[in-house]
Amino acid sequence: MTPSSEGPAVPRQSEPYDFDFIVIGSGFGGSVSALRLVEKGYKVAVMEMGRRWTPENLPRTSWSLHRWFWRPGLALRGFFNMRFFRHVTILHGCAVGGGSITYACTLLRPPDKVWDNGYWAGLADWKADMPRHYDTASRMLGIIENKILGPGDLLLKRAAEAAGVGDDFYRTHVGIFQSPEGQPGGQTVPDPFFGGEGPERTTCNGCGGCMMGCRHGAKNTLDQNYLYLAEMRGASVFAETKVVDVRPLDGNPDGGDGYEVSTVKSTAFVNRDPRRFTCRAVVFSASSLGTTELLFRLKSRASLPRISDRLGKHIRTNSESLIGVRVPGSRDDLSKGVAIGSGVYIDEHTHIEAVRYPAGSDAMSLWSTILTGGRPGPARIALWLKNLWYSALRHPIQTFRLFKPFGWARECVILLCMQALDAHIDMCWERPWFWPFRKFLVSRGDKVPTYIPQANEFAQKMAQLAGGTAMSMLPEILFNVPGTAHCLGGCVIASSADKGVVDARHRVFGYKNLYVCDGSVIAANLGVNPSLTITALAERAMSFIPPAAETTWNDVSDAKECLTA
Ligand SMILES: Cc1cc2nc3c(=O)[nH]c(=O)nc-3n(C[C@H](O)[C@H](O)[C@H](O)COP(=O)(O)OP(=O)(O)OC[C@H]3O[C@@H](n4cnc5c(N)ncnc54)[C@H](O)[C@@H]3O)c2cc1C
Ligand code: SF4
Repeated sequence: MTPSSEGPAVPRQSEPYDFDFIVIGSGFGGSVSALRLVEKGYKVAVMEMGRRWTPENLPRTSWSLHRWFWRPGLALRGFFNMRFFRHVTILHGCAVGGGSITYACTLLRPPDKVWDNGYWAGLADWKADMPRHYDTASRMLGIIENKILGPGDLLLKRAAEAAGVGDDFYRTHVGIFQSPEGQPGGQTVPDPFFGGEGPERTTCNGCGGCMMGCRHGAKNTLDQNYLYLAEMRGASVFAETKVVDVRPLDGNPDGGDGYEVSTVKSTAFVNRDPRRFTCRAVVFSASSLGTTELLFRLKSRASLPRISDRLGKHIRTNSESLIGVRVPGSRDDLSKGVAIGSGVYIDEHTHIEAVRYPAGSDAMSLWSTILTGGRPGPARIALWLKNLWYSALRHPIQTFRLFKPFGWARECVILLCMQALDAHIDMCWERPWFWPFRKFLVSRGDKVPTYIPQANEFAQKMAQLAGGTAMSMLPEILFNVPGTAHCLGGCVIASSADKGVVDARHRVFGYKNLYVCDGSVIAANLGVNPSLTITALAERAMSFIPPAAETTWNDVSDAKECLTA
């Protein structure tokens, strides 16, 4: 059962404000913030643009576009979004529970060396401080070693052995409730995680549907842990509520007198129900892309003009590439298992995970094509066309079976390749030449590599072993644009406003009681899936906030020079 979000559940603590804290976004950073703040005695509201999802309203397959994809202007009110930029296509979640509804629940700790790189290096004793926050985050998210290896994972294992890296194959750590190995899934039990305070749960049946939202109650999404407990303890969650403005109250430019937060209904075409709420403090947790975009808008309309000019800098894509192997007519159902069941380190920098969509979720097939290497640009497109032509002439039936959408998820293993190399781009707030009427987020900088040669080679080996064909993402070949589900940075942690947007306690430079807690603060390329690190960083940030009874509402970064900017 999901607790209701209707109406305030605790008495006001801070008249005349509507809330003590308003948290913008209910993903990993937002849900941790909401729970820890409400536990400290604050009156908390969470504003979430996306919808609330339950097993009953989640889509069965990705062909239910209106319940999968988020584009409310086109009446698509799902939980998954793709944003297209010149340098990168960004995949992200949008729901009560943020990216956790669509994510593949792989929760890995990055290597210690990430704390030595980027602007956050030296600002705290990260290596001593973070392990306890990772431990708390791991317990809250219910991380275990995956016990269900599907046929796609076993294929990855064989390919790893054939490539001489069999010892570097591993089962992923996942936030999924699973039965002991060998026992069937589908067992429903009372809350197994929070001493009876949490919801009842059902063990995983290995259907591979995690990225379409778990309809079986097995995936440890945030609305089953952090956010669930926050609501139980009195936080109010406003779903389908988009924040469009945040302004300091009473004309006090540093926000010391609180903030006014304006919202509209995100899923309405007309009558968007504009509302205003007042609060003492705000936590931006709208994700790397969402927080960066919102802060750009607020800075440019002079609502929060002191935000650092470093906003939008150092956006990182985890140096990712999505490739895959399709085995037309495969006897094994490659869609079975959990969404990311296993991985392998093929060299010091390169890490590959076996990913799947559930049977029937074939819409992604429209983006996949024959794997093509070579230098980006027209030469690569020509090579791709040549490969296609050659394949169609020599093996017409095989080529047809490779491109037919139906059966794609059953016959495909997607390979998510990540590199811990330091590549980044910037986001700017500009009027594009083709639409000069308003400003948009646009990407700038050097192109991020769209293919990783070692990964392509690995995919080809795997295809040979399985009797299939290696595949690429179409936008990577046509537009030299990589796709990523792991966009990070934009409001990075740094020592001062001339290097980043927040300090090591996530306080926004230039303002009082204003914080950022989400993937946008991450100041280095993690090389692994980032949600566990976002959760652990949010736990750490919230540990510095005093209990409500002791606060003086004067929390400001030590970099005082920016207060007078
Ligand atoms: C298909 C897919 C699979 C993934 N798999 C994994 C995985 O296995 N492991 C992993 O670690 N990561 C994975 N990720 C990435 C992971 O989902 C993100 O890194 C993570 O969710 C980011 O957390 P966050 O707290 O920064 O923000 P999010 O979780 O993205 O939450 C931000 C929330 O803010 C809301 N929001 C934005 N703007 C506003 C606004 N103006 N007003 C109100 N609300 C707003 C959004 O709707 C969203 O719900 C995956 C992502 C995708 C798309
Ligand atoms: S594999 Fe299926 S049952 Fe298991 S967590 Fe994913 S969606 Fe839920």
